[in-house]
Amino acid sequence: MALKLYDSLTRSLRPLQPARADGVFTFYNCGPTVYAPAHIGNFRTFVVNDVIRRLLELEFGADKVKHVRNITDVDDKTIKRAREEGRSLREVTKQWTDKFHADCDALGCLRPHVEPTATGHIREQVDMIDVLMQKGNAYRAADGSVYFKVASFDGYGRLSRVKERELQVGSALAGKAQAADADEKEDATDFALWKSHKPEDGDNAWESPWGRGRPGWHIECSAMSKKHLGDTIDLHTGGVDLLFPHHENEIAQSECCNGATFARHWYHSEHLLVDGKKMSKSLGNLYTLDDLIAKGFAATTVRLALLSGHPRKQQNFTIDSLHAAEKNLLTLRRFRERLARIERAGAPPNSTTFTKVIEHLSNDLNTPAALGEIFSTIGTFSESSAKEGDLRSFDEAMFAFGIDLNRVIDPLAVLGYNPEAPAAVTALAEKRWTAKQAKDWAAADALRAEITAAGWAMLDRKDGYSLEPLKK
Ligand code: AMP
Ligand code: ZN
Repeated sequence: MALKLYDSLTRSLRPLQPARADGVFTFYNCGPTVYAPAHIGNFRTFVVNDVIRRLLELEFGADKVKHVRNITDVDDKTIKRAREEGRSLREVTKQWTDKFHADCDALGCLRPHVEPTATGHIREQVDMIDVLMQKGNAYRAADGSVYFKVASFDGYGRLSRVKERELQVGSALAGKAQAADADEKEDATDFALWKSHKPEDGDNAWESPWGRGRPGWHIECSAMSKKHLGDTIDLHTGGVDLLFPHHENEIAQSECCNGATFARHWYHSEHLLVDGKKMSKSLGNLYTLDDLIAKGFAATTVRLALLSGHPRKQQNFTIDSLHAAEKNLLTLRRFRERLARIERAGAPPNSTTFTKVIEHLSNDLNTPAALGEIFSTIGTFSESSAKEGDLRSFDEAMFAFGIDLNRVIDPLAVLGYNPEAPAAVTALAEKRWTAKQAKDWAAADALRAEITAAGWAMLDRKDGYSLEPLKK
């Protein structure tokens, strides 16, 4: 089944296809601003993007996907943090980039193929602004800042439909941030491409044809995607808050500069909330991965909890959702152990038992439906219906979710219990199962007592049973 995602630009569900002749699919995901630890709201977006990356690999092949995710390492927030701490911008952004990488690894996110930084691409950004100046899409203000002239691009507002909104609410385009430098701009809707140096920027400034300064935030993604993926990219993603103005501005800059469609497909995932409000640094209602690890949860548990809601719907974060994810992971791990035990080697793997999971994910990333499919299949799975290749089909589903079951810690194993029952106990269990099938309840009860006395619990299901050691 072809991988389809909702496209925010056309507002429709569309299949993804590479445009390049070599069949390589180009994928750009806006990355973090590195001045503090990312919170798990941010990680909801990055984990969802990791599932997209995995589905693209399953669909087109691992060597046919090029994934770029930037690091915003210069902006107002990073500079302010460095000043407050009396450290260099580089020191601060390196600390939080390293932490971001460690958290991504713990959460099982595949690393992007290229992870460009804004400060490492000043020349590319200046070159792009230069083209925009030459084409008449940008102008230099008296203070040396350069702005993009929104009125020069007819397509402005197509993604966010911001012009329609503006008609309704007056000049809503001019947000607070823009108001600060409104004096320098010809129009309140124009946005900065280059910011002239201000004393509070310290020595975080670069030379440009327009004077010393630093790039605006939006231009970095346009310049880095152009450099690493070309003028047109197959898929551009980010959290829904980036849709306007960030992505609208990226389209304007790139399309005016390159004269080509910027992104063929736009996907935006929704926010993680706490008590009905967006989890954010500014509201202070955030949890970091470390906060949750300190509460005793594994990173894989956090990942599964973040994928339990539909990525295009807001999701309320609760500690209870982590407890539920923990239980589910244990079920998955035990199921995999059971599958591995019954899988017979030899015949070519051809099972389709778990292909529906990939189908749900390929249908606009329906993670709740995919999880529902996994657990209902596990619930009705019986050894007699097991097929050759079930293990592989299950592992593929787990790969798409990015869940490494080897990282899931079984509390029984940690406590030193041997999950394999001794032969004598297995024999008793087999006898009890036969008695139960024959509805000989008295014999079944007596056998259960013997099994319990031997230190084991026999857990009954419709189609069979499992044995677990009793806690000592
Ligand atoms: P930032 O580091 O602020 O640039 O954000 C990195 C990514 O996290 C962006 O794609 C944001 O859209 C996304 N993001 C920020 N807050 C949340 C949230 N509460 N839930 C989901 N994604 C978020
Ligand atoms: Zn971006």
